[in-house]
Amino acid sequence: MISASWQNAGPAARRHVKLEYCRPNPPHHPLMPTYSGRIPSKLPAVGTTIFTVMSRLAAEHHAINLSQGFPDFDCAPELRALVTKHFNAGVNQYPPMAGIAPLRDAVAAKIDTLYGQRYDPEHEITVVPGATYGIYTAVATLVRPGDEVILFEPTYDSYAPAVEVHGGVPVYVQLRYPDYSMDWQAVEAAITPRTRMMIINTPHNPTATVLSAEDLRLLEGLLKKTDIVVVSDEVYEHIVFDGHQHQSVARFPGLAERSFLVSSFGKTYHVTGWKMGYVAAPRELMAEFRKVHQYNAFVTNGPLQYVFAEYMGNRDAYLQLAAFYQKKRDYFLDGLKGSRFKPLPSRGTFFQNLSYEAISDEKDTDLAVRLTKEHGIASIPVSVFYRRPPAHRVLRFCFAKSEETLAKGAAILSTL
Ligand code: PMP
Ligand code: GLN
Repeated sequence: MISASWQNAGPAARRHVKLEYCRPNPPHHPLMPTYSGRIPSKLPAVGTTIFTVMSRLAAEHHAINLSQGFPDFDCAPELRALVTKHFNAGVNQYPPMAGIAPLRDAVAAKIDTLYGQRYDPEHEITVVPGATYGIYTAVATLVRPGDEVILFEPTYDSYAPAVEVHGGVPVYVQLRYPDYSMDWQAVEAAITPRTRMMIINTPHNPTATVLSAEDLRLLEGLLKKTDIVVVSDEVYEHIVFDGHQHQSVARFPGLAERSFLVSSFGKTYHVTGWKMGYVAAPRELMAEFRKVHQYNAFVTNGPLQYVFAEYMGNRDAYLQLAAFYQKKRDYFLDGLKGSRFKPLPSRGTFFQNLSYEAISDEKDTDLAVRLTKEHGIASIPVSVFYRRPPAHRVLRFCFAKSEETLAKGAAILSTL
Protein backbone atom coordinates (compact mmCIF):
# COMPACT_ATOMS: atom_id res chain seq x y z
CA MET A 1 0.00 0.00 0.00
CA ILE A 2 1.23 3.48 -0.74
CA SER A 3 0.79 5.70 2.26
CA ALA A 4 0.21 9.41 2.18
CA SER A 5 3.76 9.98 3.41
CA TRP A 6 5.14 7.98 0.49
CA GLN A 7 3.10 10.00 -1.98
CA ASN A 8 4.51 13.21 -0.59
CA ALA A 9 8.08 11.96 -0.53
CA GLY A 10 10.73 12.99 -3.05
CA PRO A 11 12.19 10.85 -5.82
CA ALA A 12 14.82 9.29 -3.54
CA ALA A 13 12.15 7.83 -1.24
CA ARG A 14 10.07 6.77 -4.21
CA ARG A 15 12.87 4.62 -5.52
CA HIS A 16 12.40 2.37 -2.50
CA VAL A 17 8.85 1.41 -3.42
CA LYS A 18 8.45 -2.33 -3.15
CA LEU A 19 7.13 -4.02 -6.26
CA GLU A 20 5.05 -6.48 -4.24
CA TYR A 21 2.85 -3.58 -3.26
CA CYS A 22 1.46 -3.68 -6.78
CA ARG A 23 -0.26 -7.03 -6.29
CA PRO A 24 -4.05 -7.38 -6.20
CA ASN A 25 -5.62 -7.48 -2.74
CA PRO A 26 -4.81 -10.69 -0.86
CA PRO A 27 -7.90 -12.75 0.01
CA HIS A 28 -8.36 -11.60 3.62
CA HIS A 29 -6.90 -8.18 4.03
CA PRO A 30 -7.75 -5.87 6.90
CA LEU A 31 -9.23 -2.51 6.07
CA MET A 32 -6.08 -0.47 6.40
CA PRO A 33 -6.61 3.13 7.41
CA THR A 34 -5.29 5.95 5.23
CA TYR A 35 -5.68 9.73 5.31
CA SER A 36 -4.28 9.95 8.85
CA GLY A 37 -6.39 6.97 9.89
CA ARG A 38 -9.77 8.67 9.46
CA ILE A 39 -11.05 7.14 6.21
CA PRO A 40 -10.47 3.46 5.40
CA SER A 41 -9.14 2.80 1.91
CA LYS A 42 -11.45 0.95 -0.49
CA LEU A 43 -8.35 -0.63 -2.08
CA PRO A 44 -6.01 -1.13 0.90
CA ALA A 45 -3.48 -3.42 -0.78
CA VAL A 46 -3.28 -1.58 -4.09
CA GLY A 47 -0.25 0.51 -4.96
CA THR A 48 0.94 2.21 -8.12
CA THR A 49 0.57 -0.05 -11.17
CA ILE A 50 3.59 -2.10 -12.15
CA PHE A 51 3.50 -0.46 -15.60
CA THR A 52 4.01 3.00 -14.11
CA VAL A 53 6.62 1.75 -11.66
CA MET A 54 8.72 -0.04 -14.29
CA SER A 55 8.45 2.66 -16.96
CA ARG A 56 9.54 5.24 -14.40
CA LEU A 57 12.46 3.08 -13.31
CA ALA A 58 13.45 2.54 -16.97
CA ALA A 59 13.42 6.30 -17.58
CA GLU A 60 15.45 7.00 -14.41
CA HIS A 61 18.12 4.51 -15.47
CA HIS A 62 17.98 5.21 -19.22
CA ALA A 63 17.14 1.55 -19.74
CA ILE A 64 15.60 -0.02 -22.84
CA ASN A 65 11.95 -0.14 -21.87
CA LEU A 66 10.39 -3.49 -22.77
CA SER A 67 8.14 -3.32 -19.70
CA GLN A 68 4.91 -1.35 -20.21
CA GLY A 69 3.04 -2.40 -23.35
CA PHE A 70 3.19 0.40 -25.91
CA PRO A 71 4.91 0.84 -29.29
CA ASP A 72 8.14 2.85 -29.51
CA PHE A 73 7.21 3.78 -33.10
CA ASP A 74 4.58 6.23 -34.28
CA CYS A 75 1.15 5.56 -35.76
CA ALA A 76 0.49 5.80 -39.52
CA PRO A 77 1.02 9.26 -41.06
CA GLU A 78 -2.45 8.95 -42.71
CA LEU A 79 -3.97 8.65 -39.25
CA ARG A 80 -2.13 11.75 -38.04
CA ALA A 81 -3.28 13.64 -41.16
CA LEU A 82 -6.88 12.71 -40.33
CA VAL A 83 -6.40 14.15 -36.83
CA THR A 84 -5.42 17.51 -38.33
CA LYS A 85 -8.33 17.33 -40.73
CA HIS A 86 -10.99 16.55 -38.15
CA PHE A 87 -9.72 18.83 -35.38
CA ASN A 88 -10.02 21.63 -37.95
CA ALA A 89 -13.47 20.59 -39.12
CA GLY A 90 -15.52 22.23 -36.37
CA VAL A 91 -16.44 19.04 -34.50
CA ASN A 92 -14.92 20.10 -31.20
CA GLN A 93 -18.04 20.05 -28.98
CA TYR A 94 -19.73 17.10 -27.22
CA PRO A 95 -20.43 14.19 -29.55
CA PRO A 96 -23.47 11.94 -28.91
CA MET A 97 -23.33 10.00 -25.63
CA ALA A 98 -22.96 6.58 -27.27
CA GLY A 99 -20.51 7.78 -29.93
CA ILE A 100 -20.93 9.20 -33.43
CA ALA A 101 -23.08 7.07 -35.74
CA PRO A 102 -20.47 6.54 -38.50
CA LEU A 103 -17.99 5.08 -35.99
CA ARG A 104 -20.57 2.81 -34.38
CA ASP A 105 -21.59 1.69 -37.89
CA ALA A 106 -17.95 0.94 -38.77
CA VAL A 107 -17.44 -1.07 -35.56
CA ALA A 108 -20.66 -3.05 -36.13
CA ALA A 109 -19.64 -3.80 -39.72
CA LYS A 110 -16.19 -4.98 -38.64
CA ILE A 111 -17.54 -7.31 -35.94
CA ASP A 112 -20.10 -8.69 -38.41
CA THR A 113 -17.49 -9.32 -41.11
CA LEU A 114 -14.88 -10.86 -38.83
CA TYR A 115 -17.01 -12.73 -36.29
CA GLY A 116 -20.43 -13.15 -37.94
CA GLN A 117 -22.44 -11.36 -35.24
CA ARG A 118 -24.61 -8.36 -36.11
CA TYR A 119 -24.76 -5.76 -33.33
CA ASP A 120 -27.26 -2.92 -33.78
CA PRO A 121 -25.06 0.21 -33.80
CA GLU A 122 -27.89 2.35 -32.44
CA HIS A 123 -28.48 0.33 -29.29
CA GLU A 124 -25.67 -2.18 -28.92
CA ILE A 125 -22.39 -0.36 -29.51
CA THR A 126 -20.88 2.41 -27.38
CA VAL A 127 -17.63 4.24 -28.00
CA VAL A 128 -15.66 4.63 -24.75
CA PRO A 129 -12.49 6.33 -23.49
CA GLY A 130 -10.38 3.16 -23.59
CA ALA A 131 -10.90 -0.51 -22.84
CA THR A 132 -9.98 -0.09 -19.16
CA TYR A 133 -12.88 2.31 -18.84
CA GLY A 134 -15.18 -0.06 -20.75
CA ILE A 135 -14.36 -2.92 -18.38
CA TYR A 136 -14.66 -0.72 -15.29
CA THR A 137 -18.03 0.65 -16.41
CA ALA A 138 -19.36 -2.84 -17.23
CA VAL A 139 -18.40 -3.92 -13.71
CA ALA A 140 -19.93 -0.76 -12.19
CA THR A 141 -23.12 -1.46 -14.15
CA LEU A 142 -23.75 -4.92 -12.72
CA VAL A 143 -21.65 -5.72 -9.67
CA ARG A 144 -23.22 -5.13 -6.26
CA PRO A 145 -21.61 -5.63 -2.84
CA GLY A 146 -21.06 -9.34 -2.22
CA ASP A 147 -21.39 -10.36 -5.88
CA GLU A 148 -18.70 -12.77 -7.01
CA VAL A 149 -16.71 -12.16 -10.17
CA ILE A 150 -14.59 -14.96 -11.60
CA LEU A 151 -11.12 -13.84 -12.70
CA PHE A 152 -8.27 -15.88 -14.11
CA GLU A 153 -4.85 -15.76 -12.50
CA PRO A 154 -2.48 -14.28 -13.62
CA THR A 155 -4.94 -11.41 -13.92
CA TYR A 156 -4.57 -8.15 -15.85
CA ASP A 157 -4.13 -5.58 -13.14
CA SER A 158 -7.24 -3.44 -13.59
CA TYR A 159 -9.85 -6.18 -13.12
CA ALA A 160 -9.73 -6.94 -9.38
CA PRO A 161 -9.67 -3.29 -8.25
CA ALA A 162 -12.67 -2.54 -10.51
CA VAL A 163 -14.57 -5.38 -8.83
CA GLU A 164 -13.48 -4.52 -5.29
CA VAL A 165 -14.18 -0.82 -5.51
CA HIS A 166 -17.82 -1.80 -6.14
CA GLY A 167 -17.88 -4.21 -3.21
CA GLY A 168 -17.62 -7.30 -5.43
CA VAL A 169 -15.58 -10.34 -4.48
CA PRO A 170 -12.98 -11.64 -6.98
CA VAL A 171 -12.93 -15.44 -7.20
CA TYR A 172 -9.75 -16.67 -8.85
CA VAL A 173 -9.23 -19.62 -11.18
CA GLN A 174 -5.63 -20.50 -12.02
CA LEU A 175 -4.36 -20.73 -15.59
CA ARG A 176 -2.18 -23.86 -15.80
CA TYR A 177 1.54 -23.16 -16.14
CA PRO A 178 3.50 -23.47 -18.42
CA ASP A 179 0.97 -23.23 -21.27
CA TYR A 180 -1.45 -21.15 -19.14
CA SER A 181 -4.36 -23.25 -20.35
CA MET A 182 -7.88 -23.07 -18.97
CA ASP A 183 -9.02 -25.55 -16.33
CA TRP A 184 -12.74 -25.74 -17.11
CA GLN A 185 -13.44 -28.05 -14.19
CA ALA A 186 -12.00 -25.45 -11.87
CA VAL A 187 -14.16 -22.81 -13.56
CA GLU A 188 -17.25 -24.93 -13.01
CA ALA A 189 -16.29 -25.44 -9.37
CA ALA A 190 -15.86 -21.67 -8.91
CA ILE A 191 -19.43 -20.88 -10.00
CA THR A 192 -21.84 -20.26 -7.11
CA PRO A 193 -25.33 -18.74 -6.87
CA ARG A 194 -23.55 -15.44 -6.10
CA THR A 195 -21.48 -15.40 -9.33
CA ARG A 196 -22.54 -12.29 -11.21
CA MET A 197 -19.78 -12.00 -13.77
CA MET A 198 -16.67 -13.51 -15.31
CA ILE A 199 -13.90 -11.47 -16.95
CA ILE A 200 -12.06 -13.26 -19.73
CA ASN A 201 -9.20 -11.96 -21.85
CA THR A 202 -8.01 -13.37 -25.17
CA PRO A 203 -5.31 -12.91 -26.43
CA HIS A 204 -4.20 -12.82 -22.83
CA ASN A 205 -2.08 -10.29 -21.01
CA PRO A 206 0.36 -11.11 -19.39
CA THR A 207 0.69 -14.73 -20.61
CA ALA A 208 0.36 -14.22 -24.42
CA THR A 209 -1.93 -17.25 -24.71
CA VAL A 210 -5.17 -17.37 -26.68
CA LEU A 211 -8.44 -19.16 -26.05
CA SER A 212 -9.43 -21.78 -28.63
CA ALA A 213 -12.84 -22.27 -30.24
CA GLU A 214 -13.19 -25.35 -28.04
CA ASP A 215 -12.53 -23.22 -24.93
CA LEU A 216 -15.31 -20.83 -25.87
CA ARG A 217 -17.69 -23.68 -26.70
CA LEU A 218 -17.04 -25.17 -23.28
CA LEU A 219 -17.64 -21.80 -21.65
CA GLU A 220 -20.84 -21.36 -23.63
CA GLY A 221 -22.09 -24.73 -22.37
CA LEU A 222 -21.03 -24.03 -18.80
CA LEU A 223 -22.89 -20.72 -18.59
CA LYS A 224 -26.03 -21.89 -20.36
CA LYS A 225 -28.14 -22.42 -17.26
CA THR A 226 -26.81 -19.37 -15.41
CA ASP A 227 -27.33 -15.60 -15.51
CA ILE A 228 -23.60 -14.93 -15.41
CA VAL A 229 -22.49 -12.02 -17.57
CA VAL A 230 -19.15 -12.22 -19.38
CA VAL A 231 -16.86 -9.24 -19.84
CA SER A 232 -14.59 -10.22 -22.71
CA ASP A 233 -11.43 -8.15 -22.96
CA GLU A 234 -10.38 -8.47 -26.60
CA VAL A 235 -8.00 -5.54 -26.94
CA TYR A 236 -5.46 -7.74 -28.76
CA GLU A 237 -8.09 -9.23 -31.11
CA HIS A 238 -6.00 -8.45 -34.22
CA ILE A 239 -2.72 -9.72 -32.79
CA VAL A 240 -2.96 -13.52 -33.01
CA PHE A 241 -0.02 -15.49 -34.44
CA ASP A 242 0.89 -18.57 -36.45
CA GLY A 243 -2.26 -18.63 -38.56
CA HIS A 244 -4.67 -19.00 -35.63
CA GLN A 245 -7.97 -17.12 -35.53
CA HIS A 246 -9.08 -14.84 -32.76
CA GLN A 247 -11.99 -16.41 -30.90
CA SER A 248 -14.29 -13.53 -30.02
CA VAL A 249 -17.35 -14.07 -27.83
CA ALA A 250 -19.18 -12.54 -30.80
CA ARG A 251 -18.66 -15.81 -32.72
CA PHE A 252 -20.67 -17.80 -30.15
CA PRO A 253 -24.37 -16.87 -29.90
CA GLY A 254 -24.73 -18.32 -26.38
CA LEU A 255 -21.87 -16.08 -25.23
CA ALA A 256 -22.66 -13.00 -27.32
CA GLU A 257 -26.12 -12.82 -25.72
CA ARG A 258 -24.58 -12.45 -22.22
CA SER A 259 -21.33 -10.59 -22.95
CA PHE A 260 -19.80 -7.16 -22.99
CA LEU A 261 -17.21 -7.35 -25.78
CA VAL A 262 -14.54 -4.73 -25.07
CA SER A 263 -11.82 -3.60 -27.47
CA SER A 264 -9.35 -0.74 -27.84
CA PHE A 265 -8.23 1.39 -30.76
CA GLY A 266 -4.98 1.98 -28.88
CA LYS A 267 -3.51 -1.47 -29.60
CA THR A 268 -4.85 -1.78 -33.12
CA TYR A 269 -3.65 1.58 -34.45
CA HIS A 270 -0.48 2.15 -32.34
CA VAL A 271 -2.09 5.00 -30.40
CA THR A 272 -2.23 3.79 -26.80
CA GLY A 273 -2.11 7.42 -25.61
CA TRP A 274 -5.40 8.32 -27.29
CA LYS A 275 -7.43 6.14 -24.90
CA MET A 276 -10.25 5.18 -27.24
CA GLY A 277 -12.17 1.92 -27.43
CA TYR A 278 -15.62 0.46 -27.80
CA VAL A 279 -18.02 -1.92 -26.10
CA ALA A 280 -20.56 -4.15 -27.87
CA ALA A 281 -23.34 -5.89 -25.95
CA PRO A 282 -26.95 -7.00 -26.37
CA ARG A 283 -29.48 -4.21 -26.12
CA GLU A 284 -30.65 -4.84 -22.53
CA LEU A 285 -27.11 -4.99 -21.18
CA MET A 286 -26.02 -1.97 -23.19
CA ALA A 287 -29.01 0.08 -21.99
CA GLU A 288 -27.82 -0.47 -18.39
CA PHE A 289 -24.19 0.19 -19.36
CA ARG A 290 -25.14 3.53 -20.90
CA LYS A 291 -26.98 4.59 -17.72
CA VAL A 292 -23.64 4.41 -15.92
CA HIS A 293 -21.51 5.68 -18.80
CA GLN A 294 -23.58 8.87 -19.13
CA TYR A 295 -22.63 9.81 -15.56
CA ASN A 296 -19.12 8.44 -15.66
CA ALA A 297 -17.44 9.90 -18.75
CA PHE A 298 -20.70 10.84 -20.57
CA VAL A 299 -18.93 10.95 -23.95
CA THR A 300 -15.64 10.04 -25.60
CA ASN A 301 -13.32 12.45 -27.46
CA GLY A 302 -15.35 13.68 -30.44
CA PRO A 303 -12.83 14.64 -33.14
CA LEU A 304 -10.93 11.37 -32.69
CA GLN A 305 -14.15 9.46 -33.31
CA TYR A 306 -14.36 11.08 -36.76
CA VAL A 307 -10.74 10.12 -37.33
CA PHE A 308 -11.41 6.43 -36.62
CA ALA A 309 -14.73 6.41 -38.47
CA GLU A 310 -12.82 7.40 -41.60
CA TYR A 311 -9.68 5.35 -40.96
CA MET A 312 -11.55 2.10 -40.22
CA GLY A 313 -12.32 1.96 -43.95
CA ASN A 314 -8.68 0.92 -44.30
CA ARG A 315 -9.16 -2.74 -43.34
CA ASP A 316 -5.52 -3.60 -44.02
CA ALA A 317 -4.50 -1.59 -40.97
CA TYR A 318 -5.94 -4.26 -38.68
CA LEU A 319 -5.83 -7.26 -41.01
CA GLN A 320 -2.04 -6.94 -41.38
CA LEU A 321 -1.37 -6.33 -37.71
CA ALA A 322 -0.84 -9.99 -36.78
CA ALA A 323 1.85 -10.47 -39.46
CA PHE A 324 3.47 -7.19 -38.44
CA TYR A 325 3.80 -8.25 -34.81
CA GLN A 326 4.65 -11.87 -35.57
CA LYS A 327 7.68 -10.59 -37.45
CA LYS A 328 8.71 -8.59 -34.41
CA ARG A 329 8.18 -11.56 -32.08
CA ASP A 330 10.33 -13.74 -34.32
CA TYR A 331 13.02 -11.07 -34.65
CA PHE A 332 13.23 -10.77 -30.87
CA LEU A 333 13.32 -14.57 -30.44
CA ASP A 334 16.05 -14.88 -33.08
CA GLY A 335 18.14 -12.43 -31.10
CA LEU A 336 17.67 -14.60 -28.00
CA LYS A 337 18.78 -17.87 -29.62
CA GLY A 338 22.06 -18.10 -27.72
CA SER A 339 20.56 -16.88 -24.46
CA ARG A 340 19.83 -18.85 -21.28
CA PHE A 341 16.35 -17.36 -21.04
CA LYS A 342 13.68 -19.87 -22.05
CA PRO A 343 10.88 -18.42 -24.18
CA LEU A 344 7.34 -19.50 -23.33
CA PRO A 345 4.89 -19.67 -26.26
CA SER A 346 3.63 -16.28 -27.44
CA ARG A 347 0.47 -16.94 -29.42
CA GLY A 348 -0.94 -13.42 -29.38
CA THR A 349 -0.57 -9.88 -27.87
CA PHE A 350 2.74 -8.06 -28.21
CA PHE A 351 4.39 -9.77 -25.26
CA GLN A 352 7.03 -12.47 -25.00
CA ASN A 353 7.45 -14.21 -21.65
CA LEU A 354 10.85 -15.57 -20.73
CA SER A 355 11.53 -18.07 -17.97
CA TYR A 356 14.86 -17.43 -16.22
CA GLU A 357 15.13 -20.56 -14.11
CA ALA A 358 18.52 -21.40 -15.67
CA ILE A 359 19.90 -17.97 -14.82
CA SER A 360 18.88 -16.95 -11.33
CA ASP A 361 16.97 -17.88 -8.16
CA GLU A 362 15.97 -14.29 -7.53
CA LYS A 363 12.36 -13.22 -7.20
CA ASP A 364 11.12 -11.82 -10.50
CA THR A 365 10.36 -8.49 -8.82
CA ASP A 366 14.00 -8.23 -7.69
CA LEU A 367 15.40 -9.38 -11.01
CA ALA A 368 13.25 -6.93 -13.00
CA VAL A 369 14.62 -4.06 -10.89
CA ARG A 370 18.21 -5.32 -11.08
CA LEU A 371 18.08 -5.82 -14.86
CA THR A 372 16.81 -2.27 -15.24
CA LYS A 373 19.39 -0.68 -12.95
CA GLU A 374 22.44 -2.80 -13.70
CA HIS A 375 21.90 -4.01 -17.27
CA GLY A 376 19.72 -1.27 -18.77
CA ILE A 377 16.71 -3.35 -19.75
CA ALA A 378 13.24 -3.11 -18.18
CA SER A 379 10.63 -5.88 -18.12
CA ILE A 380 7.52 -6.79 -16.15
CA PRO A 381 7.70 -9.40 -13.35
CA VAL A 382 4.75 -11.71 -14.00
CA SER A 383 4.24 -12.58 -10.31
CA VAL A 384 2.61 -9.19 -9.68
CA PHE A 385 -0.42 -10.46 -11.61
CA TYR A 386 -0.93 -13.08 -8.88
CA ARG A 387 -2.11 -12.59 -5.29
CA ARG A 388 0.82 -14.71 -4.09
CA PRO A 389 3.98 -15.26 -6.13
CA PRO A 390 3.80 -18.59 -8.03
CA ALA A 391 6.65 -21.12 -7.95
CA HIS A 392 7.71 -20.43 -11.53
CA ARG A 393 9.82 -17.39 -12.42
CA VAL A 394 8.92 -15.43 -15.51
CA LEU A 395 9.53 -11.94 -16.91
CA ARG A 396 7.33 -10.33 -19.58
CA PHE A 397 8.94 -8.37 -22.44
CA CYS A 398 7.02 -6.12 -24.84
CA PHE A 399 8.14 -6.48 -28.47
CA ALA A 400 6.06 -3.61 -29.87
CA LYS A 401 9.39 -1.92 -30.56
CA SER A 402 11.64 -1.03 -33.49
CA GLU A 403 14.07 -3.73 -34.65
CA GLU A 404 16.89 -1.58 -33.35
CA THR A 405 15.41 -1.58 -29.83
CA LEU A 406 14.67 -5.31 -29.99
CA ALA A 407 18.19 -6.12 -31.18
CA LYS A 408 19.71 -4.10 -28.34
CA GLY A 409 17.40 -5.72 -25.80
CA ALA A 410 18.09 -9.25 -27.03
CA ALA A 411 21.85 -8.56 -27.03
CA ILE A 412 21.73 -7.53 -23.36
CA LEU A 413 19.63 -10.54 -22.38
CA SER A 414 22.00 -12.87 -24.22
CA THR A 415 24.88 -11.81 -21.97
CA LEU A 416 23.08 -13.02 -18.83
N1 PMP B 1 -6.90 -4.87 -21.26
C1 PMP B 1 -5.69 -5.43 -21.49
C2 PMP B 1 -5.54 -6.90 -21.37
C3 PMP B 1 -4.61 -4.62 -21.82
O1 PMP B 1 -3.40 -5.17 -22.02
C4 PMP B 1 -4.79 -3.25 -21.93
C5 PMP B 1 -3.66 -2.41 -22.25
N2 PMP B 1 -3.01 -1.73 -22.13
C6 PMP B 1 -6.06 -2.71 -21.70
C7 PMP B 1 -7.09 -3.55 -21.35
C8 PMP B 1 -6.31 -1.24 -21.74
O2 PMP B 1 -6.65 -0.69 -22.94
P1 PMP B 1 -6.93 0.87 -23.02
O3 PMP B 1 -5.60 1.53 -23.06
O4 PMP B 1 -7.74 1.05 -24.25
O5 PMP B 1 -7.68 1.24 -21.78
N1 GLN C 1 -1.66 -2.84 -20.88
C1 GLN C 1 -0.34 -2.32 -20.86
C2 GLN C 1 0.60 -3.45 -20.43
O1 GLN C 1 0.16 -4.52 -20.14
C3 GLN C 1 -0.14 -1.13 -19.98
C4 GLN C 1 -1.28 -0.22 -19.75
C5 GLN C 1 -1.06 0.55 -18.50
O2 GLN C 1 0.01 1.09 -18.26
N2 GLN C 1 -2.06 0.58 -17.66
O3 GLN C 1 1.78 -3.26 -20.39
